[in-house]
Amino acid sequence: MSYDDQNIFAKILRGEIPNDTVYEDDHVLAFRDIQPQAPTHVLVIPKGAYVSFDDFAENGSDEEFAAYVRAIGKVARQERVAPVAGGNGFRMISNAGEDGVQEVPHLHMHILGGRRIGRMIQPPRE
Ligand code: 5GP
Repeated sequence: MSYDDQNIFAKILRGEIPNDTVYEDDHVLAFRDIQPQAPTHVLVIPKGAYVSFDDFAENGSDEEFAAYVRAIGKVARQERVAPVAGGNGFRMISNAGEDGVQEVPHLHMHILGGRRIGRMIQPPRE
């Protein structure tokens, strides 16, 4: 699947749509989900044009991988959900493609916490 530069997160990265940023560095932007599913619901995205995690894994650089993983950890600590920093826990989810029910075709990791998230997989809603 080729990258669509008109997707919502591409527009956020270009500053065309506002966002509630919680973390940013050279390679990564993290911002609050517009429809939070938990008290903490942050989306962590690479600044590079990657459709999904598998696209990133195939085409990203080691520098981008390191930045992305470290940013996710920083966000979890900053949001006080990371157990390593005394938080009560969180879940990371990255949906990919149709069966993964990915709505926005730019890689994003959901960081969810602040309440018990529940079973790992819920029955389909659609
Ligand atoms: P997906 O289903 O692709 O894994 O998740 C996409 C997420 O992006 C959803 O949780 C949705 O609420 C969020 N989202 C969609 N549009 C916007 C937006 O314009 N701003 C923000 N902050 N989040 C958005």
